[in-house]
Amino acid sequence: MKKSLTILLLTVVSILVLTGIEVILVRKIYLLSTEKFDYRYREIVQKGLFFIEKRSGNRGLDETYKFLDVVSAGYMNVLRSKDVDTLSFRQQVLEQYQKTLVKDQKLDEYLKQYLEKMGEPAGFRSYFRITDLVFLEETSVLSIYNEADDSDWNFSKSLGVPGEQKPVNHYGFTGNNFSIGFDYYIDFSQKKEIVLQQIAGSLVLAILALVAVGFMFIFTLRNLLEERRLSQLKTDFINNMTHELKTPLSTISVATRTLENDSILDDRLKTRETVSVIHRQNRQLTKQINHLLEISMWERKQFSLERKEIEVEPFFAGIAEAFRWECKESGCAVEEKYSIKTPTAYLDEVQLTIALHNLFINAVKYNLGEPHILLEVVCEDRLKIMVTDNGIGISREDQKHIFDKFYRVHTGNIHKIKGLGLGLFYVKQIAEAHGGSIDVSSHPGKGSTFVLNLPVHGKSQHSSGRR
Ligand code: ADP
Repeated sequence: MKKSLTILLLTVVSILVLTGIEVILVRKIYLLSTEKFDYRYREIVQKGLFFIEKRSGNRGLDETYKFLDVVSAGYMNVLRSKDVDTLSFRQQVLEQYQKTLVKDQKLDEYLKQYLEKMGEPAGFRSYFRITDLVFLEETSVLSIYNEADDSDWNFSKSLGVPGEQKPVNHYGFTGNNFSIGFDYYIDFSQKKEIVLQQIAGSLVLAILALVAVGFMFIFTLRNLLEERRLSQLKTDFINNMTHELKTPLSTISVATRTLENDSILDDRLKTRETVSVIHRQNRQLTKQINHLLEISMWERKQFSLERKEIEVEPFFAGIAEAFRWECKESGCAVEEKYSIKTPTAYLDEVQLTIALHNLFINAVKYNLGEPHILLEVVCEDRLKIMVTDNGIGISREDQKHIFDKFYRVHTGNIHKIKGLGLGLFYVKQIAEAHGGSIDVSSHPGKGSTFVLNLPVHGKSQHSSGRR
């Protein structure tokens, strides 16, 4: 048990480690693919920008430059007449130049056309970041902004350029009244989708591997639990069997020791009584051992059914009558109901008698009051045999297992009601060998109904058992 728990714990830890490694690997693959994507598209965009510039000069920006040159002349006039060269004035100027740049430029449009022609994804967002701005006078220059001083302004942050992005190009222009330098950034909106598509294979494989490991874990866990259940059943069976064999053996031992006593041999009556005790216990022992032999026969499928045509009602009435005699002392009542449309059926008399006897015995054994058994037989196109009792009943959970070999409901004290957990197992085997089935419905404290459902027609001889 301890060993299984350790294995279980180790498996859980291994799965967690494996999951961790997979997550790290997939993340690494994602980052690498993103980097590869950035590198490739930077190259494509740079080629595109070069092409645009060579084919049509700085066409995407010419109009903007011209406009800004005029604006700069205006600002210079203001500066000459008033003393307004304050930090907030410069910030205002810079923001206006930035806005004009973004609004008036045609670079995005040309680049989009180029990318579409090249068959590349053209969904992108651009950013312009002014790096320096200078007003030019005939004899002097007035620096409005330089990115080296940006710590005071925090201007670049306000532009919302994604932090990890590298500019695809740097532009510089010097006009009559101003000089400007700025970086051009491109952010592909479909980047995530494209990268995810590229790594989809690895992602699916990683998920499949995890699912496979998960399945293996569940499978192993189920096996482990089943193994525990079987081991528990085995222990219970050995305990019960030891008890069943030990009782007759010790009685025989006491009886033989009594017979060794000379004085008892003179008393014929006592001798006969003791010998009959030995006989009875011997029969009991033989019965138990035959039980075990029978199981191994069922296991090896070495039994065969001896089916023959029997008259249904007299057959079951005979079994009920015999049982009435058998349990006379326990005050057990056996009631019968018949609804017979097909009077004969092909059945193995001996096996079916054993099956029904097992059901009757259980109805008496698992009963705390006066047992009342109702046997109902309906024979139409199938033969339905129902055995209802007023016993202790069986819980839903136990109902799932009572037909398993060696299964006994735990009563706390396993020797209180004797048994080996084989009776219902036999009944099920016999039903299935006939091509039928057995079912139970029960309510704890109220009683149980066992239903055997068998075909009426079968091969008349020696059909071998199925499991
Ligand atoms: P055994 O009687 O030797 O234990 P069975 O295979 O006949 O083995 O029965 C399996 C278990 O099913 C029993 O241990 C008992 O708890 C439960 N059982 C069987 N028949 C009845 C019944 N008629 N009423 C209540 N419990 C029953």
